[in-house]
Amino acid sequence: MPTVIEPFRIKAVEPLRMTTPEERRRILEAADWNLFRVAAEDILIDLLTDSGTGAMSAQQWAGIMRGDESYAGARSWYRFRDRVRELTGFDHIIPTHQGRAAERILFSCLGVRDRVVVSNTHFDTTRANVEFLGGRALDLPTPEALRPGEIHPFKGNIDLQALVDVLDDDAIDVACVILTITNNSGGGQPASLANIRAASEISRSRAVPFFLDACRFAENAYFIKLREEGYADRSVESIARETFSLADGATFSAKKDGLANIGGFLGSNDDRLAEQEEALLILTEGFPTYGGMAGRDLEAIAVGLREVVEEDYLRYRTASVAYLGNGLAAAGYPIVQPPGGHAIYIDAGAFLPDIPPRAFPAHALACALYLEGGIRSVEIGTLMFGGTDPATGEERTAPLELLRLAVPRRVYTKSHIDYVLEVARAVAERREGVSGYRIVEEPAQLRHFTARLAPLA
Ligand SMILES: *Cc1c(COP(=O)(O)O)cnc(C)c1O
Repeated sequence: MPTVIEPFRIKAVEPLRMTTPEERRRILEAADWNLFRVAAEDILIDLLTDSGTGAMSAQQWAGIMRGDESYAGARSWYRFRDRVRELTGFDHIIPTHQGRAAERILFSCLGVRDRVVVSNTHFDTTRANVEFLGGRALDLPTPEALRPGEIHPFKGNIDLQALVDVLDDDAIDVACVILTITNNSGGGQPASLANIRAASEISRSRAVPFFLDACRFAENAYFIKLREEGYADRSVESIARETFSLADGATFSAKKDGLANIGGFLGSNDDRLAEQEEALLILTEGFPTYGGMAGRDLEAIAVGLREVVEEDYLRYRTASVAYLGNGLAAAGYPIVQPPGGHAIYIDAGAFLPDIPPRAFPAHALACALYLEGGIRSVEIGTLMFGGTDPATGEERTAPLELLRLAVPRRVYTKSHIDYVLEVARAVAERREGVSGYRIVEEPAQLRHFTARLAPLA
């Protein structure tokens, strides 16, 4: 049958609260025009993030009850460790409370001060952790990644020639290469195994450690199966294992393809590095058999890491995200093509050409979608990545002004997405009335989370 259905039925429901347009205007104004400051109860369809917002399965909830909360050597720890090791093959598995804790521990132990970390595109917390520790985060996306409308199967690739040039430049001290799969900030686009393998060989042959930011490894592996020659008959599990085998380690947020609401890990094959990482883990996260998690979280992730590689699930997952993307494109929105694995990225710079990057066109569109229909989305542009460059002191703008509509895993049905498309069509009809924004107050790091803004008109 051509219809790809949700491969599950619903066992527990959570009511949504409706609001009126007048209420939403008051709510957004009181939140200083920053959707991160709006209470979730005041949101109808929350596409802010796919991180930690997924619905757990009956098996995962059963795991929650089985959770062993022993401080040291809990049963749940062994179940978690064994599944992570089976999937990734890493010698050392270091449990953290979420992905950014793994990043902080990795970059602290590698030593990134006055050095460079190279990526296809750093995610915002990854970049912030590198910069906070005094390093420079350098993005080398494949050139197609900067052409949003162009269809290319692997826009998450790293630019291999640029990587060689950077690694061979004696003036640049590279601490590590970290490839983000799928490339979240670059449109949720996958990297091919050929690209990952080449990047790994280029890095390792120059004695530079090669890591994966593997938050969406299953979505990446499924795209490889669909799009890369030679992988159509391979299981997602085996493609994922091959991917991990090319890396010296990985950071992982279990809030994405862990199908859990919290958790993460840091994997490593370097004994000496892992020893330092464990020491820092004990100091700041917890004992090495639970890290920053409860035993029940370890159980939920161990189960989630099996469910996420099921191909019925991944077929539904990618089809439902593509349905949103194709509907938005049909409504006249320029989107990053092709649709990504976890989210649709609208090229708001192209959709609202009269609003310059410094007036945050993607943020303006986010506010318009909320005011129109209670939808929450997130700017991935100059509000998120702009501000003062700590290395050069220059005011920077993002390469693209994107608005991300991220789809939580196993949460919304097709009619929820149809509603989102209706709201988007209504906003598209009135786009001339959408104005830009200015920042009234901002923090030094990760300003988009807490900044206070105001409309320009
Ligand atoms: C979510 C995410 C992180 C950070 O993980 P948290 O669990 O939110 O700390 C890092 N990298 C990418 C690509 C992500 O999507």
